[in-house]
Amino acid sequence: MSAITCIVCSRPDPYIERLEFPLFRHMDFGMFSKGPALLSYCQTCSAVSRLLSNAETKNISTMYQGSEYATKREDDHTIFISAKDAIKEPFRLQADILMPVLPKTGAAVLDIGCADAALLMEIGTRQPTADLCGFDLNPYHNHVTGAEDKIRFVSGETISAVDGAFDLIVLSHSLQYIRDVPELMSELARLLNPEGTVFIQVPDFAQKPASLLYGDLYYHYTAANLPVMAAYHGFGATTLNQKIFSRDVLCLLRRDNAPQSTVAETAFANAVAALRQTVGNLISHGEESGLGVLGTTIEGALADNFLGNSLAFFVDENPKKAGGRFCGKPVVHPRDIAVDAAVLLPYGRAAFAIKRRFEKLYPGRYISI
Ligand SMILES: [Zn+2]
Repeated sequence: MSAITCIVCSRPDPYIERLEFPLFRHMDFGMFSKGPALLSYCQTCSAVSRLLSNAETKNISTMYQGSEYATKREDDHTIFISAKDAIKEPFRLQADILMPVLPKTGAAVLDIGCADAALLMEIGTRQPTADLCGFDLNPYHNHVTGAEDKIRFVSGETISAVDGAFDLIVLSHSLQYIRDVPELMSELARLLNPEGTVFIQVPDFAQKPASLLYGDLYYHYTAANLPVMAAYHGFGATTLNQKIFSRDVLCLLRRDNAPQSTVAETAFANAVAALRQTVGNLISHGEESGLGVLGTTIEGALADNFLGNSLAFFVDENPKKAGGRFCGKPVVHPRDIAVDAAVLLPYGRAAFAIKRRFEKLYPGRYISI
């Protein structure tokens, strides 16, 4: 392997963390590889990136351009606003955040990684004069009804295929999948109006340590290292203080010639330690039987990997998930589980608040791990 340098600040010889755990695909939480995960952490700017073999890199880019990825990604996540099964789609919540930063009329909006284009359509509904453009690497996405008439779609290997000058550029859960960050940032500078805004939403591994086990992405971000990366490329970042997307970083970038800053944070070491602790706790329950696990995303897939036959069912509040199957096991709504059923919450620090809420609302014994 040739010498490794940090992609953000060019510091040589970053710290390499080796996680002996399996890696998962973000589109359906199936296994990406048996691992280990090699993660590089820069002690100067806190950038965290995957160390990938050429074969893994090829595997990722082939997957993103395939039709299977397009179909599965469209089974989108939902957000619970209250405990009463009130679900609001993420794109509506994002539009709530973004409308105030747009010019009042004729706003030019580009969504990079637009997938089904639901967010662009929502913006178009709220501001009918908006000029909408959607870019996606993957040409197979089925767009939401009516999108083809209202949105200019561009598909290609890189964002250089897009032309225009935009008031808002959206990267919603797409930044972490873009390998050439310097090229992306210079494309953003090319495409953004002088007073324009870039909106970025990515998983925050400080809040969701298991996201370090996604196999099909290139970088891992936090509310600390994302603004540093932006500053290295001439953008100032405002991190949005919000609770709705509690395990994501939401950030607004604007052109800014502020000097580059660095950040020494402990988030990476803490997240790795939390992940090892969660896996250790899962293994310690491996001799039990009839266990439930809350959640049908990466934490659920990780639990299934270590619990095997000890894990009998998954628990999910989302009525679209309850009644289905995950990792081949039934998914039940928490109101339908037995009073004495043991349900593991593999969410580290975040598990305590979840436990309090579930114990108040539902039957079952909830165990934070
Ligand atoms: Zn660095």
